[in-house]
Amino acid sequence: MDTGFAATGTRRDPRFDVLFEPVRIGPVVARNRFYQVPHCNGMGQRYPSPMAEMRGVKAEGGWAVISTEEVEIHPAGDQSPWAGGRLWSDEDIPVHAKMVDRIHAHGSLAAIEPAFAGLNAPNRFSREVPLAPSNRVSGHEDPLQARAMDKQDIRNLRRWFVDAAKRARTAGFDIVYVYAGHDLNVLSHFLSPRHNRRTDEYGGSLENRVRLFREVLEETKEAVGDTCAVAVRFAVEELLGDEGRTYDGEGRAVVEMLADLPDLWDVNIAAWENDSQTSRFAKAGFQDSFISFVKQVTKKPVVGVGRYTSPDAMVSLIRTGVLDFIGAARPSIADPFLPKKVEEGRLEDIRECIGCNICVSADFTNTPLRCTQNPTMGEEWRKGWHPERIAPKTSDDTLLIVGAGPSGLEAARALGQRGYAVTLAEAGTELGGRVAREARLPGLIEWKRVADYRAWQIGQMPNVETYLDSRLSADQVLDFGADHVVIATGARWSDTGLGRENHAPIPRDGSVRVLTPDDIMDGARAEGPVVIYDDDHYYMGGVLAELLRDQGHEVTLVTPAADVSHWTHFTLEQHRIQKRIIEIGVNILPLHSVAALSDGKAVAECSYTGRPREMACATFVPVTMRDPVDGLFHQVQALIYGGSAAPKSLTRIGDCLAPATIAHAVYSGHRYARELGEDPTGPVAFRRELTALSPD
Ligand code: ADP
Ligand code: SF4
Repeated sequence: MDTGFAATGTRRDPRFDVLFEPVRIGPVVARNRFYQVPHCNGMGQRYPSPMAEMRGVKAEGGWAVISTEEVEIHPAGDQSPWAGGRLWSDEDIPVHAKMVDRIHAHGSLAAIEPAFAGLNAPNRFSREVPLAPSNRVSGHEDPLQARAMDKQDIRNLRRWFVDAAKRARTAGFDIVYVYAGHDLNVLSHFLSPRHNRRTDEYGGSLENRVRLFREVLEETKEAVGDTCAVAVRFAVEELLGDEGRTYDGEGRAVVEMLADLPDLWDVNIAAWENDSQTSRFAKAGFQDSFISFVKQVTKKPVVGVGRYTSPDAMVSLIRTGVLDFIGAARPSIADPFLPKKVEEGRLEDIRECIGCNICVSADFTNTPLRCTQNPTMGEEWRKGWHPERIAPKTSDDTLLIVGAGPSGLEAARALGQRGYAVTLAEAGTELGGRVAREARLPGLIEWKRVADYRAWQIGQMPNVETYLDSRLSADQVLDFGADHVVIATGARWSDTGLGRENHAPIPRDGSVRVLTPDDIMDGARAEGPVVIYDDDHYYMGGVLAELLRDQGHEVTLVTPAADVSHWTHFTLEQHRIQKRIIEIGVNILPLHSVAALSDGKAVAECSYTGRPREMACATFVPVTMRDPVDGLFHQVQALIYGGSAAPKSLTRIGDCLAPATIAHAVYSGHRYARELGEDPTGPVAFRRELTALSPD
């Protein structure tokens, strides 16, 4: 029974009661309205126990439904080396059963998303020929084509879906998806005239293009619908105008045609880069206007996403009849305990997703999911890190942390949670270090949540004292007398131009002003034509181009890469960044490095031929690499080696140790806090599963 009282005895705010109503989905009932929709995690069948534990932790955190990622149903839909789910045969069932058990242990429902990637499956491992509605080049970069499916192929595919559904039921799943989202799978390929040029009963009219979707839906219901709910995931809009499906055209028509056939509609916009837009380009609720019609067309429950982290916004979505379930992938990654915190009236404890898509990058790199806000993500099983619980302190040792960027803040927060007495000293007048500064750049305001969450948490801890405006010298650090000293003084952008491409500083004659990204964030104003040299390839070069162009400068972005902010392909942003930069009139010179600054010009060189190209340049902004601010660390170390009274340990963390992403810095601070007082001679860095050898 839902009493409205949380386990801790605190009562949630009654205005959120609606979020905790049970909702029926076909033959099963979800205990509340928090629904973790399918999301990739870079673990899948390759790292099954970490994946199962991660999902289980989210169930513990209160999500009523926990879904898998895409789960391959047949070798002809093989997405290797992608580390997703797999259900090719009965032998794959135990992997899924383990995950289901972890989810059921906390009273949540387990959902599976069987998928057949069709022309998006390069079949590198299985070496099968990809299958598609029509002859088409592969959706991947591989030089191969998918072949048009004949009638027997279609029959086989329908059987594979039914087999997968039955295996899913054997594994214990409560909800089985029929997946037609994201333009990444055969059902959406059949739906789309872009991919489907057939002239038989599976092509042409919308009725015909929907046929396979409908058949798979009906046959899945027939196979498992008595005990499992059958959900559909469907993209109602593709943001392609006339070239694609629109929410007021075929998107709506498909929902009308299948209205009450599925037990649940999980609706979104395609493709993935539209569904998982970053906060730089889209704010919470960015899908609402596309999906809000669905509930008017079906009597079945509807789930949708939009990076919802505000409980008030969630209530409004339910009350205004937009959704029945609050869907979440990223908000559930950043805070697996979001529902519990709402339930317990602890809204300030919610660790809000910042919309950076570092989580997404793990999928593209086929590695376990990590998250900027939640350093325990992907470490639940490997290291036994729980997002909410941490071992109590093992001594009464005191700590001094110098620097309140993401690493220092997270170390202070987690050490404070352990019960240690912590002093955090920050030279500046605000907490947050690089995130406080970078959040003021165009589009990055939400990144400040990294600092805000931690600042609030440590503000509640009587054992953590914070001092702003406190630049410490080495003597002051040692005089403080803490048992453990942690240096988290960050990094500064280099003004030399050294980086991946340039292995010596860029020669300069003094005729060009050089400003680093830090100078600009500190308020330095550029003059005249600006050349940004981006050999970093993440967001900074592109963001500064936008900022300086907005300030009215003529801006040229030179990069050795083929496109702007190249690494942001992994965060699904590259296309949007390049489009924006082109539209605001930034000149782009790809495949070039900067070789010299002389006579008021920047001299660029072609990466292939070395052919020089000169451009007027009053201000040069190298975005190439960062230097650790580790002077304090070395000075303290020198004093200790010189005989000064030494603390029990001196450690540097975060960018001060090695500059990287904000996610790395948070992780570094968290790791320090976890490991303090633990046995440093432990045998393994983390647990891992070894491949079982076949007996023959
Ligand atoms: P990270 O990403 O590793 O957390 P940041 O660069 O974001 O690093 O933050 C480093 C913080 O350390 C900055 O806010 C900076 O002001 C602070 N800092 C640097 N040197 C000192 C010092 N000597 N004393 C106190 N704070 C310092
Ligand atoms: Fe959100 Fe970034 Fe974490 Fe992904 S990595 S869940 S976008 S905070």
